[in-house]
Amino acid sequence: MATNRTFTMIKPDATAAGNAGKILDIILENGYKVVALKYIHLSTAQAGAFYEIHKERPFYNDLVSFMTSGPIYAAILEKENAVADFRTLIGATNPAEAAPGTIRNLFAKSIDANAVHGSDSDENAMIEGAFFFNRFERF
Ligand code: ATP
Ligand code: MG
Repeated sequence: MATNRTFTMIKPDATAAGNAGKILDIILENGYKVVALKYIHLSTAQAGAFYEIHKERPFYNDLVSFMTSGPIYAAILEKENAVADFRTLIGATNPAEAAPGTIRNLFAKSIDANAVHGSDSDENAMIEGAFFFNRFERF
């Protein structure tokens, strides 16, 4: 069942570079409503649990250490067809392959420091949103 919601993080690289405001502006300009928003510095245990799905991948430890290297913005976003449209808006995982004008094309430096996260399915959007926000924090 499509929920019209997705989950995003503005990652430590984009936050440290001062690009969070610009990225949030692009998200709002593209018709997303912010349902929940949090500024947080993840612990190793939290980032490890969030990326549990990638535990066996060779880049897992680097990913966890990168995601704990500084604060991030976490948000739940709402728009029709949110999951698929947001993946289009952020562009390919590797910024070298991200289409012109996408958020990763504009702000990502490398495949690991790639500026933003976007859920890859409705099911994961719900799981990831619930990881960060309780029901009193979603509007
Ligand atoms: P995200 O889940 O962050 O939105 P994604 O869905 O495009 O990104 P995934 O395959 O879920 O990509 O990988 C999660 C994250 O792990 C990527 O955003 C990237 O930071 C990192 N990653 C993925 N593949 C590699 C790789 N080959 N080398 C280094 N880091 C990688
Ligand atoms: Mg992913």
